[in-house]
Amino acid sequence: MAKKQFKAESKRLLDLMINSIYTHHEIFLREIISNASDAIDKLAYKALTDENVGLSREDFRILVKLDKDGRTVTVSDNGIGMSKEDMEENLGVIAHSGSFKFKSELESAEDVDIIGQFGVGFYSAFMVSDKVTVISRAYGADQAWKWESAGADGYTVSEADKPDVGTDIIMHIKPDTEAERFSDYLETWRVKDLIKKYSDYVRFPIRMDVEHTEYVETGETDEHGHKKTEPVTHTEEETVNSMVPIWQRPKSEATDEKCVEFYKEHFHDTEDPVAIIRVNAEGLTSYRALLFIPKKAPYDFYSRDYKPGLALYSSGVMIMESCPDLLPECFRFVRGVVDSPDLSLNISREILQHDRQLKVIAGNLENKVKSELTSLMTKDPEKYDAFWAAFGRQIKYGIVGEYGMKKELLKDLLKFHSSFEEKLTSLKDYVSRMPESQKYIYYAAAGDIRSAAGLPQTEQVRAKGYELLYFVEDIDEFVSQMLYEYEGKELKSVSGGDLGLETEEEKKEQDTEDAGSKELLDFLKETLKDEVADVKLSHSLMSSAVCMSYEGDITLEMERYFRQMPGDAGEKIRARRVLEINPEHKVFASLTAAFEGDKDRAAKIAKVLCAQAKLLASLPVEDISAYTSAVCDLI
Ligand code: ADP
Ligand code: MG
Repeated sequence: MAKKQFKAESKRLLDLMINSIYTHHEIFLREIISNASDAIDKLAYKALTDENVGLSREDFRILVKLDKDGRTVTVSDNGIGMSKEDMEENLGVIAHSGSFKFKSELESAEDVDIIGQFGVGFYSAFMVSDKVTVISRAYGADQAWKWESAGADGYTVSEADKPDVGTDIIMHIKPDTEAERFSDYLETWRVKDLIKKYSDYVRFPIRMDVEHTEYVETGETDEHGHKKTEPVTHTEEETVNSMVPIWQRPKSEATDEKCVEFYKEHFHDTEDPVAIIRVNAEGLTSYRALLFIPKKAPYDFYSRDYKPGLALYSSGVMIMESCPDLLPECFRFVRGVVDSPDLSLNISREILQHDRQLKVIAGNLENKVKSELTSLMTKDPEKYDAFWAAFGRQIKYGIVGEYGMKKELLKDLLKFHSSFEEKLTSLKDYVSRMPESQKYIYYAAAGDIRSAAGLPQTEQVRAKGYELLYFVEDIDEFVSQMLYEYEGKELKSVSGGDLGLETEEEKKEQDTEDAGSKELLDFLKETLKDEVADVKLSHSLMSSAVCMSYEGDITLEMERYFRQMPGDAGEKIRARRVLEINPEHKVFASLTAAFEGDKDRAAKIAKVLCAQAKLLASLPVEDISAYTSAVCDLI
């Protein structure tokens, strides 16, 4: 029979499995059993609505059989099974969460230890087997199929006989080496221990033949007059696992450590989560939930491939692998399980969306996640900041999205860079530091902290001794627009014109000054009409001659953001730019002199100043050669 080749990634993973270090080998059984359990979940779900399945919940089981002479370990399930195509697709390539993630980490790290850290799937069977045979019959199919592979050189698929629906995974155990006794995996005690250790929580019975030895009296007595006995061994099939899932256990058993272990294995993460949330709700809607807040964003988190949602169970039957309706979009990074006996089992997934109970649960979980994050923020800021680095963007999207519906929920979770501290600060902490005289929450927006801190407009705020937030992500200004205020304090961009720092008297004085320069300002407006909407004298600049600010709702940062967007959608979105000139600066005197004596020179100075203002605001200067030659002329 012609051998088919594995895809390249699969081959690499297989090689790694085959050569992995022996401390990891034992997890193969956990992986194979967890696949069996997944397959049963699928058929058990079908059985709820489809009489033809002909099995009830009690009928499902996983059998583990050891054949010492034949050197095989067989794991059989009566789950959904695989068709020929399923085999090709699922066993011939790595397309599955665990394995795929693993592969991407592989490229960077030589670290083979990741095998031990989380599920690596079906291929782990090759750590202990020199050949793996899979015989399976899919639900609804008459024909069974056999998939077989001896490792990286390929696999075969052929017809097979199998009377019942389900799958047998037959692992042909490697011969012993000096370093490792693979034969141990053929010993009942060893395999039983492994099931207890890794698969105790599997919700279906894992059954195996266990030998019992009894000492029975022979009816004779020995020379001391004691009754003689002899050992009689008989084999009995017994259920090895306790079948109570971790989320159904009391906290004393489902310790943090155990929960973390469960998390890493189920959600394919190498890092511990930053928080574990346990919910045991009783009342109108009772349910249990075990949720995790990850520390790191999965590689595909900000892409369309990421599948948000919590696993949904009803009395131990999995209804949905990931139910997105249980979490608001802004918390889509949360992982975990919800189990409620109140959910009706026979309901279709479409109707489930509108289920009242589900809505109640979702509402509760939203609050739990929020309060967990809020307490993490104060109790363990370092952990919170790790979380924030991974998911802060998602929280910000949450504030901006859905027309600001979630802004009340999320505003306390925000953190920003600040001019006062090296570390990030929350809005609450910022406001608590505000002196009485300070009216606004000031922020400077630019592409990075240095540019933001370097904005000329920040000088006056700083001179007053006020704190500045630095907005360095493109979404930040949208967040501030959506929030508008925090605890009654308006958020104000330093580039947005009047900063409310002058007294009424100072303002009056300025107005007279502005009136005196009207002719010059009109000239500048005319000269720069293609560049800016307005030219003003600035009373907030200190050491800098000019700066660029804006009027209206579209900020300079937003303009930059829209410009980056593909297509021409962003072409039309422009901030109303205002060039501000510092009348106290020496340059202003030169400009005034030129305006009175040499208008050409004055126009040149105006253009150079405008370009400088753009550079300070990290805006592009379109005609660089015109700018540089104007500078040379003036020098
Ligand atoms: P994962 O479990 O993360 O999807 P695996 O490598 O463990 O990845 O398994 C790959 C796929 O092979 C499964 O998703 C499933 O489709 C299929 N599979 C493996 N074992 C079984 C089984 N016992 N019954 C049905 N399908 C199975
Ligand atoms: Mg698996």
